[in-house]
Amino acid sequence: MSVYLDNHATTPLDPRVLDAMLPYLREEFGNPSSKTHPFGWRAQEAVETARAHVAALIGAEAREIVFTSGATEANNLAILGAAAKAPKDRDRLVTQATEHHAVLDPTHELEKNGFGRTVLATDREGRVSVDALRAALDERTLLVSIMAANNEIGAVQPLAEIGAACREVGALFHTDAAQAVGRLALDVHASNIDLLSLSAHKFHGPKGVGALFVRRRGTRVRLAPSAFGGGQEGGLRPGTLNVPGIVGVGEAARVARLDLASDTARIGALRDRLRDQVRLAVPDVVVNGPRDPAHKLAGNLSLSFPAVDGSALLVALTDIAASAGSACTAGNSEPSSVLSAIGVPADLAVSTLRLGLGRFTTAADVDYAARRISETVARLRAQRAGHRSARRDTRRDAGHGARHGAG
Ligand SMILES: *Cc1c(COP(=O)(O)O)cnc(C)c1O
Repeated sequence: MSVYLDNHATTPLDPRVLDAMLPYLREEFGNPSSKTHPFGWRAQEAVETARAHVAALIGAEAREIVFTSGATEANNLAILGAAAKAPKDRDRLVTQATEHHAVLDPTHELEKNGFGRTVLATDREGRVSVDALRAALDERTLLVSIMAANNEIGAVQPLAEIGAACREVGALFHTDAAQAVGRLALDVHASNIDLLSLSAHKFHGPKGVGALFVRRRGTRVRLAPSAFGGGQEGGLRPGTLNVPGIVGVGEAARVARLDLASDTARIGALRDRLRDQVRLAVPDVVVNGPRDPAHKLAGNLSLSFPAVDGSALLVALTDIAASAGSACTAGNSEPSSVLSAIGVPADLAVSTLRLGLGRFTTAADVDYAARRISETVARLRAQRAGHRSARRDTRRDAGHGARHGAG
């Protein structure tokens, strides 16, 4: 048996999405830039249908969607592209501590090149304070980049309040919505979002495709491209379009819009069931992230187990696909920067399991995972206690030895 509970890392392709893509991997192989024959026309039509589906999911217009290779590229295009077009008197950026590296790294790069960068702290649940944001903003702020929802602890940020604060000072608001799209109702206009990144493989679409929303309605956002060589996607993202991938992200968006409410309710109930079962067996388990379900992704469950070796836990749980609360760098496990940012102590951070439930998670998956996690934690703790008393015995023996020696 093997249970997939790593839906923050990636999600399985929805069969409806695969079915929509297959013709574009077979007979419909045209290049949408071919304007003189039906192969090109049909590919073009498929791309435009997909663009409309993606736009509808986030309350945008089709012309505001630029297809990319995923959220990493979309984040880079948004941040570096806005910076390259910045007016002289707008040279400051604001972001926050629990962002993905695809936001932290490009903003850090700009900082090295002379931009001012403020990295806001979060509260212990991983949410930013809108007052702290307001205090960090001024007339020189070019761009605020704050994610919609976090990939480790599921914290959902107050997007509408952030958007309103940005609007007051004329700063652009970019949000990395890779974890939120398809999982939360998003509206770029209600939240005053100027730039939004999304990734198909985080909501049951294919890997290697995503999109950037670039506002045109109201104030048009000006971006510089980061690649040159063709006019595709308004010149912002030149290169022959990935038609099967784009059809896939379009269908994933269409399906997500239909299923969002029922998916969220079912996934949230399964997540609560998993949490409650583990809590019953391991009463001292710590649940990371927001307590208020309205501030947390329905499928997120980040659990820390005091006095358990996290790497031993993951090794023992190879039948549960999950992630650790640590990043392995050169063999050392470093506590995750997100858990550090919300104040989880290092020893607890390294004994953290990040579980991510999704559209295809079942009650049987959850019950199996709860049982395996609970029994493994109990076994590792018993072993640890065993080692402790063995070490005590060894020390006592060594003590005797020393006395004998001295005698
Ligand atoms: C997965 C993820 C990304 C990266 O998306 P790709 O499409 O894989 O490049 C960026 N930000 C967040 C929050 C993510 O979860």
